[in-house]
Amino acid sequence: MLSADGSDPLRARAGEVLVHRERIAQRVADLGAAIAADLGDQPLTLAALMTGSLIFVADLIRQLPVMMKIHLSEMSSYPGKATRSGPLTVQSPLPEDLSGQHVLIVDDILDSGRTLGRAAVDVRAAGAVEIRTCVLVAKPPSRRADDGLAKADYVGFDIPDKFVVGYGMDFDDYYRNLPDIVVLKGLR
Ligand code: IMP
Ligand code: MG
Repeated sequence: MLSADGSDPLRARAGEVLVHRERIAQRVADLGAAIAADLGDQPLTLAALMTGSLIFVADLIRQLPVMMKIHLSEMSSYPGKATRSGPLTVQSPLPEDLSGQHVLIVDDILDSGRTLGRAAVDVRAAGAVEIRTCVLVAKPPSRRADDGLAKADYVGFDIPDKFVVGYGMDFDDYYRNLPDIVVLKGLR
C-alpha cells in the first residue's frame, strides 16, 4: 500500500525498478499471443514451477484462450537467503503421466538452467509429445550450467546478471507481492 505521501515503502526497501508493471503486462500479452499461435488447435498442459511463477502464470493463462490443464510443481534451487543456485530440491513433483500431451513449462527465471532442465527431463519421462518452455526473465547465457540442459522457447525479458525480486520472485520468500520487477539492492 502507498503511504500518505505517495511513497511505496516495500518498493523503496527492495530497490530500483527494472521492468515496470505496464511493460510486464504488455509483454505477457505478446507472449500469450505467440504461444497460442504456435499451439494451433492442440489442447495445452501447463506445468508451472512454483513459487516464483505464481503471478506470471496467473497473468499468462488469461492471455491464452485455449483448452488448458494446469499442473503446479514446487521446486527450488535458491533456498532461503541464497542468491546463487544450489542443489535443486523438488518439494512437489509434476504428474507421472503426461502421455500424449503438449506441455508448456513455465518458470520465473532462467539462470543456470538446472530448474528448467530438470522439469523438462521429468515432463519427457512422463510421456509428453511436445515440450516447450517459457520464462518471465532470462539472465545472460554465460550463467548457464554445462549440465543445465535448458533453453527457453519463450522469454519475457533478457536481464543482466542481477538478483531481482517482485512479480512473484523472492528473496528469502519476501517481495513476491511487488507489482514490478525490481533489482534487489545491497546484494552485489
Ligand atoms: P536456475 O535453476 O539456476 O536456472 O535458477 C532458476 C531458479 O532460481 C528460478 O526458479 C528462480 O526461482 C530462482 N532464481 C534465480 N535467479 C533469481 C533471482 O534473481 N531472484 C529470485 N529468484 C531467482
Ligand atoms: Mg523457482
